[in-house]
Amino acid sequence: MLDIIDNILNNKINAVSLDIFDTILLRNAASEEERFYKIAIGYQEKLAESGFYFSLKDLFYLRCACHHMAYRASPLVNGVREPGIRLIVEALCSSLSIDPLFVPKLISIDVDYEVHNLRVNWRLLRDVKVLQNYGVSVFLISDMYLRESDLNFIITRLCPGFAFEKIYVSSDFSASKHSNGGLFDIFLAEQKYNASEVMHIGDNYCSDVLQAQRKGIACIYLPRNKVFVVNRTIRKYFFEFIKKRDFYDNL
Ligand SMILES: [Mg+2]
Repeated sequence: MLDIIDNILNNKINAVSLDIFDTILLRNAASEEERFYKIAIGYQEKLAESGFYFSLKDLFYLRCACHHMAYRASPLVNGVREPGIRLIVEALCSSLSIDPLFVPKLISIDVDYEVHNLRVNWRLLRDVKVLQNYGVSVFLISDMYLRESDLNFIITRLCPGFAFEKIYVSSDFSASKHSNGGLFDIFLAEQKYNASEVMHIGDNYCSDVLQAQRKGIACIYLPRNKVFVVNRTIRKYFFEFIKKRDFYDNL
């Protein structure tokens, strides 16, 4: 990816803002719902250790419901709702009538899932480290319900030695890239950068390209390849099929 290095060095860029998921850390082809299903397996095992037994189906549907509820019920800040994992898991514990002391234990299941299912985009990381050697500062910026401390843990585990400046995550700042680009505004204001000094790199055309450009930030669009997108789509519909079959089998 010499293009990235040339592009940034030739444009006198002082800082790179790097998207996390499907950019520097690559997801597998599992859909969001399949991810919640796998996480629900972890919840079931963790709760069973303390003598609480729930069906996997209940925990899966509850995890999905609490996720969607949190995105509708979290506080509205500048027209945007960006809930964190704590709200999602607190709602789940409350629904199951189990002690809130389980909240951090269940959050660690989510974090553990990410550690074991993400892989590093080594080619991009190598380029980013080259840019750092040229004095370019690197920030991470993500729309995600996990907290900055969770993302820090995941990145430290998967990319040891990667010394970035700071993580900006939607759930901590109640602002996002995708809705109105407010997370870019916070990053620019806090770090005292002009938009023209920054290059953003990401995989999502809306969040990482259109919203960055709206803020005057140049960007490098790095979408996942077409084979991956097809695989993800097939796996999404296969999971949907399995879920429906399970539902009708239990009528
Ligand atoms: Mg992304």
